[in-house]
Amino acid sequence: MKLSLIIPCYNEEGNVEKFFSEVNTVFSANSISDYEFVFVNDGSADKTLLKLKEIYANNKDTHNIKVVSFSRNFGKEAAIYAGLQKATGDLVCLIDADLQQRLEVVVEMLGVLESDPDLDCVTAFQEKRKENKLISWIKSMFYKIINKISDVVFVNGASDFRLLKRPMVEAILQMSEFHRFSKGLFSYVGFNTKYIPYKVAERESGESKWSVKSLFKYAMEGILSFSTMPLKLATIIGFFFSICSVCYLIVVLIQKISFGINVPGYATTVTLILFLGGLQLFFLGIIGEYLARMYVQVKNRPIYIVKAYLNTDDEENK
Ligand code: UDP
Ligand code: MG
Repeated sequence: MKLSLIIPCYNEEGNVEKFFSEVNTVFSANSISDYEFVFVNDGSADKTLLKLKEIYANNKDTHNIKVVSFSRNFGKEAAIYAGLQKATGDLVCLIDADLQQRLEVVVEMLGVLESDPDLDCVTAFQEKRKENKLISWIKSMFYKIINKISDVVFVNGASDFRLLKRPMVEAILQMSEFHRFSKGLFSYVGFNTKYIPYKVAERESGESKWSVKSLFKYAMEGILSFSTMPLKLATIIGFFFSICSVCYLIVVLIQKISFGINVPGYATTVTLILFLGGLQLFFLGIIGEYLARMYVQVKNRPIYIVKAYLNTDDEENK
């Protein structure tokens, strides 16, 4: 069975060559011969594309290197989508270019997939993460919340590092939404997935592209793409406050009619107006987030734009 490796690359000039030779070494040591590389250059600002062209030129006889190069940086999710579209293997493996995901794990994943014909996907998850306690706690809270409010299951620590069978790849390709949250998409399509633990290696060269801000954006993306609970929250909280206000009205009326007590001051009124005003704006913002996503989706812009292809069916057109 042919294996396609999809490798999203963003500023990975120091890694791609090492990655390429490492794959060849590990695969030949494990007698894996039928495989192809689908490198997706996600608008790198460094010499990544040049390095990929060199690799391609030096290994033309192997016919197993494809390169898709974007016109700018569209993000890893878009790169994965492009890679899935161009991969021709019966099995497809998503792997980073920075050698943090060791190739021995790919061999292990192949073994696991082979051992059980019922499996459609093997996903590697990080058992222990070297990160600060606060980030780790925020991440676990995020998974708790998203699993409560969404219909699909999200596994904490599960990465994009996975091996998929063709039918699952086809299912994912059918979902051509603009805002892509792969973790959710993989779970949404169903199929049988097995999770195996793995240890992340140190980054070979360059640095990670994640910042706290981008993690927060990613978490928002996940919630907004796979749950409408935030919208329902407005209804629930609105209903709760309506009940409260009716109760309070009854109390005030009883006080006035039975005891002749005037409700003193306007502090309560001002506080309530401010509180409810803030709450309304907050939920208006949430509705706005969904609306903005619909707006982008309705425009139906492509998920990525390609500047150059190497060795794909589209090559002649560019
Ligand atoms: N990547 C990409 N586009 C981006 C950001 C990252 O294609 O906008 C690629 C990057 O080149 C790498 C993989 O996605 O191959 C994972 O990125 P990174 O190593 O920064 O993430 P981490 O390993 O820290 O989660
Ligand atoms: Mg990395």
